[in-house]
Amino acid sequence: MAVGTLADAPKDLISEIKHLEELFTVDTAKLKEITNHFVNELAKGLSVEGGSIPMNPTWVMSQPTGYETGSYLALDMGGTNLRVCQVTLTEQKSEFDIIQSKYRMPEELKTGDAEELWEYIADCLQQFIETHHGDVSKLEKIPLGFTFSYPATQNYIDEGILQRWTKGFDIAGVEGRNVVPMFEAALARRGVPIKLTALINDTTGTLVASAYTDPKMKIGCIFGTGCNAAYFEDFGSIPKLAHVDIAPDTPMAINCEWGAFDNEHVVLPRTPYDVAIDRDSPRPGQQAFEKMIAGLYLGEIFRLVMVDLHDKKDVNIFAGQDVSKLRKPYTLDSSFLSAIEEDPFENLSETLELFQNKLNISPSLPELELIRRTAELIGTRAARLSACGVAAISIKKGYKTCHVGADGSVFNKYPHFKARGAQALREILDWPEKKDPKEEDPIEILAAEDGSGVGAALIAALTLQRVKAGIM
Ligand code: BGC
Ligand code: MG
Repeated sequence: MAVGTLADAPKDLISEIKHLEELFTVDTAKLKEITNHFVNELAKGLSVEGGSIPMNPTWVMSQPTGYETGSYLALDMGGTNLRVCQVTLTEQKSEFDIIQSKYRMPEELKTGDAEELWEYIADCLQQFIETHHGDVSKLEKIPLGFTFSYPATQNYIDEGILQRWTKGFDIAGVEGRNVVPMFEAALARRGVPIKLTALINDTTGTLVASAYTDPKMKIGCIFGTGCNAAYFEDFGSIPKLAHVDIAPDTPMAINCEWGAFDNEHVVLPRTPYDVAIDRDSPRPGQQAFEKMIAGLYLGEIFRLVMVDLHDKKDVNIFAGQDVSKLRKPYTLDSSFLSAIEEDPFENLSETLELFQNKLNISPSLPELELIRRTAELIGTRAARLSACGVAAISIKKGYKTCHVGADGSVFNKYPHFKARGAQALREILDWPEKKDPKEEDPIEILAAEDGSGVGAALIAALTLQRVKAGIM
């Protein structure tokens, strides 16, 4: 801690930091308890009765060989952006070319109506195709993999019945319905020549795209606006699919939808701030795990702590300053926390500037120390809880060593997220300390290939192969 700061801080501020540390620290014993419960919940989700983690079968039933070819469109509807890609799988093994355009999802769309959503998506696709293919009326239908990163029930690979919106989306008339016909109708109205071949989750895409280039990849994860994972299970280990006549050793990718872990609040160490986030979200009671980890919520947790410490009479941080900007929900995203954690200066001058520019608040030095520590606590908790999910899948599958492919803004951009997650995995799985820091961990979480683009195209290619072979 910087000299002459916290030491001079008012006693109350020091005890507040202690209190926050108690609230947000997840020790080894707790990590293990969470992981054990997680392993059971994964199994429950695969059972006929089901549990709180959906464990959705995806009908992705094989891994690419690297010899797939052809040209495919991929549409990635994530929590923040819409991306259209044209992926060409070339003759060269495991090689591909990609052209892509990104469109920002307008904020109003997320809580608007369904028609507007599909029209917007169709617009983006039409624009993309007209730019890259010319006159749409002369084209044959192009196969498309649609990365729809929300929990969906699939009886077929080209179906997706939305179970519920996540990541702050709240569009009426979509939950409980198959999104594919709505999507196709919007395209048909414009004469856009596209055939949806596969609807996939971003985690499944990440899993397949990563395994394409690294056979040691066994789990695909997203730590971004939302969080989730996918892995391969054998049919024989999926009791809820026992009625399907497929050989028990056939693989099936499972989209866990682990954001829903502990929706019944048995094991996660929720703070009053987590309770408030859930209460004020469009889907209270849902995505308990995700709400403590994912990028959409990290800045909001931090904001709630700050508001609380301002409002507490005996603490009253930012005393006498105008905190109206700070009071606005979801004004701070996870990049704000990233920037605080990245501030290299002992006097936290960059954090001061951030607060001044974004919130019109000038924190004192002790307050800046409190801010930094709060960001660390929230970021560390997220990384450590994430590791419980990875450990749980590894334990369930009996993986002693493997690679885990991860993508998403939090994984790629949040400082120390990887190292903190790796440290937590070591504690949960009781690995001995490394002798050489360069040594690989038995289970390594690594940056994944582009699952929502290349992964979606690969899955479209694999699906067409199966259709041709008469397997589906
Ligand atoms: C969604 C998942 C998705 C994850 C990461 C969650 O909110 O429910 O389907 O994989 O976010 O994008
Ligand atoms: Mg994404």
